[in-house]
Amino acid sequence: MASIEDRLVDVRRRIAGAARLCGRDPADINLLVVSKTRPIDDIRAALAAGQCHFGENYLQEAVPKIDALADEPICWHFIGPIQANKTRAIANNFDWVHSVDRLKIAERLNAQRDPARPPLNICLQLNISGEASKSGLAPADLVAMAAAVAKLDRLRFRGLMCIPRENTDASAQFARLRRLLDELKQSMGARAESLDTLSMGMSGDLEAAIVEGATWLRIGTAVFGPRQSSIELNHLPGNG
Ligand SMILES: *Cc1c(COP(=O)(O)O)cnc(C)c1O
Repeated sequence: MASIEDRLVDVRRRIAGAARLCGRDPADINLLVVSKTRPIDDIRAALAAGQCHFGENYLQEAVPKIDALADEPICWHFIGPIQANKTRAIANNFDWVHSVDRLKIAERLNAQRDPARPPLNICLQLNISGEASKSGLAPADLVAMAAAVAKLDRLRFRGLMCIPRENTDASAQFARLRRLLDELKQSMGARAESLDTLSMGMSGDLEAAIVEGATWLRIGTAVFGPRQSSIELNHLPGNG
């Protein structure tokens, strides 16, 4: 089996190739390696291969990893569903949160972020596919939510995130997220200055996400191989 280093090289090649094909600068596309369910040694292997942004979905799994790797230059991103009683630990263990989908959660992250640290980078997660079971804000609620979030000064509102519906045309959903961000920037005027992020694209659809303007790809399987665990995408009752 290919090593983590080989797989990372391969993913970076895919990113550069896809960027070239659609005339984008690969430097504008950031790679977030999703390390959920992976042991610390796998994270160290990716780190040794030059990867410094890692994403985790489950707080109780992430905190021991973050503590064990505290001396490493890692930027941690939270990408899973958020329970209100976990916001303090999320606000202070992570540099980014991609999965904010309720004002209450944004307000708690804002209130609980350590004042000595820079503002927490956040994205609003949109439920583009309209699946009732999916996390995410309804597109119709985005403008009001964005206006409220922009007032929270311990958060830096960076953009939008989505997880497309499986077995459907991801491109159309990525395009929709991009349009939502464009419209939001228009409607927010000067307050849109921090909005530079489209967090979309995973192992199976990163090329499509790049075509539609992704700035953060969230990649697990293509770097680490298939997950052993039965933990599914963004859906585990009682996690966070
Ligand atoms: C697991 C996960 C990913 C990575 O998915 P892969 O298909 O393994 O690349 C990306 N985003 C979120 C929110 C995830 O939960």
